[in-house]
Amino acid sequence: MESLIVLRWLLKRDDPTMYSRFKDYGRGRLKLLKLHVEEYVDSLDDPPPGLQEYVAYLDAEVNREVGEEWQNVSIETTFSAVSARDMAIEVGMEREYRLQFAPASSATHGEWSSLDRYVLERCQNPLHGGHRIPLRTLSTPIGAQLVDTILDLTEDLVFDYIAGVRKGMSGEGDTQAA
Ligand SMILES: [Zn+2]
Repeated sequence: MESLIVLRWLLKRDDPTMYSRFKDYGRGRLKLLKLHVEEYVDSLDDPPPGLQEYVAYLDAEVNREVGEEWQNVSIETTFSAVSARDMAIEVGMEREYRLQFAPASSATHGEWSSLDRYVLERCQNPLHGGHRIPLRTLSTPIGAQLVDTILDLTEDLVFDYIAGVRKGMSGEGDTQAA
């Protein structure tokens, strides 16, 4: 859903600067990861071969389009300085944000209500004052409906992306998405 919100927002703004910032931001984060992994490998006396291969892989990936010395690393929380919520409102997805994105974000970020719902239960010992303990079963209230929702979102994402690319290629906007 976040990808769909961001894609629709980029298409709506149709601002070449924002497309560039989106790519630069993501590429910068990858460069930062590479630097951190390198630093970690350098700190080891005997780094495992798998880790060295990972650094080589990241190095090739980071430098694939633009040499890393020309890439900036941003430590801002977003590429655009616009929150996902504000983006959602701007593209008419406020309801989806409220009803789907917000609870999914809560679960992803381990907010208290999500922990309480999904991984904790009340201790049944009457002397313990109803404190919480880790849930001992694996059942969750997530149903098959969620799969439908994910497939719908994915379909929208692919459809809007292709439509955006076509629009860019036909010259309606000055921008070429992607
Ligand atoms: Zn207890």
